Amino acid sequence: MVDKKTYHYCPYCGEKLVLKVVAQKKRGICSNCGFIDYVNAKPAVGALILNEKKKILLGKRAVEPGRGLWNIVGGFLEDREYPIEGLKREVKEETGLEVEPYKFFDFAVAYFDGLKQGWNYSLNILYFCRIISGKMLPADDVTALKYFSLDKLPRMAFEHEKKILTHLREYLQK
Ligand SMILES: [Zn+2]
Repeated sequence: MVDKKTYHYCPYCGEKLVLKVVAQKKRGICSNCGFIDYVNAKPAVGALILNEKKKILLGKRAVEPGRGLWNIVGGFLEDREYPIEGLKREVKEETGLEVEPYKFFDFAVAYFDGLKQGWNYSLNILYFCRIISGKMLPADDVTALKYFSLDKLPRMAFEHEKKILTHLREYLQK
């Protein structure tokens, strides 16, 4: 988190950002317009959809990072979108299912170092969701959908999701 820049160039005026100490930390500063790159997390949502055998629904990723590996259904919030609405939208886009998020489960912070995109970490909000309607069909950035036992997970795309699912397994055993 320290000495990191989300951007190499100012997203407003295009000036090269330089690292300077602002509010106790080195941050990317624009010497032209005064923009300060605080490197805030991007909010994301994930749906914990369990079947009657307590298996979890996962999606196989069609895109990088982690193409061909599995992850929890979900994604990034859109501009001014509330988490619950974003969750319903993402599940619908990736699975064709209408879900009702009914219980908060956990937060997770995920780092994506080495990407060229203008973000490097996310704050993930995990909710239990129940399926209301729809026919399950992988779409958008998912090529397959499958329920997995929490004791026998496939190769996961992201470290933070392994932790979430370990936490979930412990939680369900209580
Ligand atoms: Zn600028």
